Amino acid sequence: MATTDRQATTLALAHALSAAERGLAVIPLSRTKLPALRSPHRDDPEPQPCHGECGRLGHGVYDASTDPARIRELFAAAPWATGYGIACGLPPHHLIGVDLDTKSGTDSSAALRELALRHLFTIPETVVVLTPSGGRHLWLTGPPDAAVPNSAGRLAPGIDIRGAGGYLVGPGSRTDHGVYSSAPGTAHLAPAACPPALLRLLLPPPRPTHPSTHPSAGDHGQGLVQFVLAAHEGQRNTRLFWAACRAYENGIGPALVAPLVDAALNTGLTEREARATIASAARMTGHRP
Ligand SMILES: [Zn+2]
Repeated sequence: MATTDRQATTLALAHALSAAERGLAVIPLSRTKLPALRSPHRDDPEPQPCHGECGRLGHGVYDASTDPARIRELFAAAPWATGYGIACGLPPHHLIGVDLDTKSGTDSSAALRELALRHLFTIPETVVVLTPSGGRHLWLTGPPDAAVPNSAGRLAPGIDIRGAGGYLVGPGSRTDHGVYSSAPGTAHLAPAACPPALLRLLLPPPRPTHPSTHPSAGDHGQGLVQFVLAAHEGQRNTRLFWAACRAYENGIGPALVAPLVDAALNTGLTEREARATIASAARMTGHRP
């Protein structure tokens, strides 16, 4: 057992060093996929926020490094590590991980395809990592000036996003559930740029500059209906989709279908188009259309 673990650690370190050579900052992970080094502040009576300023190891993703000497130091301090995590959102790649889950019976790949169709983007050829549970991680790169937040199921059920402050389990990592591996034919690829239309979905909405531009569902959806009514031709479908998503997220989706369809008809969409868009919003937010 001890020998096997030592081999797993050596292998994880080798994989981590080769990821670092590609510009990816890494940390050692334990078999549970959590950072292998525990916080040096865990016994502090009143822990202060620290991202490593104290000079000790054990600050999770803040320990991540591309420096081979530093990586060896991290692994030497965590001889029980059997995997490594790749920090997202850091230069030069500003990695964004699209985590397509297979849990809870959702078809996250189909959800991503539907998002791509609706928002007119294609998923580029890029690094894909296969997880032991049958899921997939797509690696994309983001722009340096926009921090993509982490989210779970916000884009669609079963799709988690790893962005700034998050990490991805690197290929070659061994966990309690099995080994992470590169999908055949993708290991040599460089992570591809995130399509702009997908990036827009991943970034937080811009701060409201005018109350009516970013309505809430707090007024029983009247703001959402107005938001659709005010749509110009090029944004009718996008606005309808956005409003319908907010309606479903706020539990007023079913009640707002008819008013939203009416509003959409007013902007020149057909009833068929409007209902299809609202149904898609329902599915995206995990509701029955
Ligand atoms: Zn500290």
